[in-house]
Amino acid sequence: MTASALSVHTGVLDKAARGERLNAAEIEALYHLPLPDVAAVAHGLRLQRRDPQLVSFLIDRNINYTNICNVGCNFCAFYRTRRQDDSYTLDHEQISHKIRELEEVGGTRILLQGGVNPELGLDYYTSLLRHVKANHPTIRIDAFSPEEVLFMEKTFGLSLDELLDTLIEAGLDGLPGAGGEILEDDVRAKAAPARIRSADWFRIIDAAQRKGLYTISTMVIGFGETYAQRTAHLLQIREQQDRAHAQYQGNGFSGFAMWTLQTEHTRLHGKAPGATAHEYLQQLAIARIALDNVPNIQASWPAQGFKVAQAALYYGANDLGSTMLEENVVSAAAGHDRHRVTVRELIRIAVDAGFTPVIRNSRFEIIERPDVDAYLQRTAANPEADRAVGAG
Ligand code: SF4
Repeated sequence: MTASALSVHTGVLDKAARGERLNAAEIEALYHLPLPDVAAVAHGLRLQRRDPQLVSFLIDRNINYTNICNVGCNFCAFYRTRRQDDSYTLDHEQISHKIRELEEVGGTRILLQGGVNPELGLDYYTSLLRHVKANHPTIRIDAFSPEEVLFMEKTFGLSLDELLDTLIEAGLDGLPGAGGEILEDDVRAKAAPARIRSADWFRIIDAAQRKGLYTISTMVIGFGETYAQRTAHLLQIREQQDRAHAQYQGNGFSGFAMWTLQTEHTRLHGKAPGATAHEYLQQLAIARIALDNVPNIQASWPAQGFKVAQAALYYGANDLGSTMLEENVVSAAAGHDRHRVTVRELIRIAVDAGFTPVIRNSRFEIIERPDVDAYLQRTAANPEADRAVGAG
């Protein structure tokens, strides 16, 4: 490294370590610095911004209510056309059955998302929300990506405000920020020509935050995007968070989740570079540094595996996401069935990495400090033991 490069290196990292906000050029410079140095700053900021001892996670379940979708993203192996034999749309009882399984293990939230199914009317969504609220009153419903909301807005003749009010009245608690990928339209247009554009994604998220709904920010790397495009993605999230904090009584993104593109069974296989574990950890650390106003950064075990997710706790992450119980979208694209984890496994990942695990709700509020010894004494060969502890 030359003397001038060393001075840039030291200057940017020192500024970041002092907790000062970095501009676009400084964030982009981080991609060219040694990862251990960037990681050390990111971990230091994580220790300052969140309780240094704690790693949190959520007991929840993903429910994909339909796999019929007319958007046809090139990176998606989950969606089906309605004529395909394995297309489905779940009814109320099928969804209740899944929620009862979640309740049995002490879960508190469902993440209810699906494809853009042109056969569904507004009544499907509102009656589903009402059914869940009436029959599972302790379960929070975080539902529908901005893509699904855009479809409803275009199809049902309601303004965005009217639509969100209707969904909230029916029981919607949060609007997860799925579909963020890279919020630069050049990247989106190549990966998924019919995908929601970034302006609509932010317009819908902004309205959700204005109405007090839970949201998180997301990012997927590996489309072949440039460092400048990744930086622009992070800066847009930071700007939205500033706006939400200033205007919506602090109701911005509760956290940030990112993972790497999975292409194994998709049309992008062999056409997009994907991202290695090194790139994932680098991007995570840079996100922790750049997003100085987003408190919680999640490690992603469904895409990265448990071991990389555990390492991520030293690259800026303070949270292990959630149990999911069922994840179909990332695992379909990746061609693996890594779609569920027990409470015991998440506890073990946190403890072995040197942290104290806590169970949170979807707003990242701690709701339980589990008895770590009780969990760890139980053998992985006895999943029923996990259930018993999880329900307690
Ligand atoms: S990612 Fe979502 S919107 Fe795109 S094809 Fe898959 S289900 Fe449809």
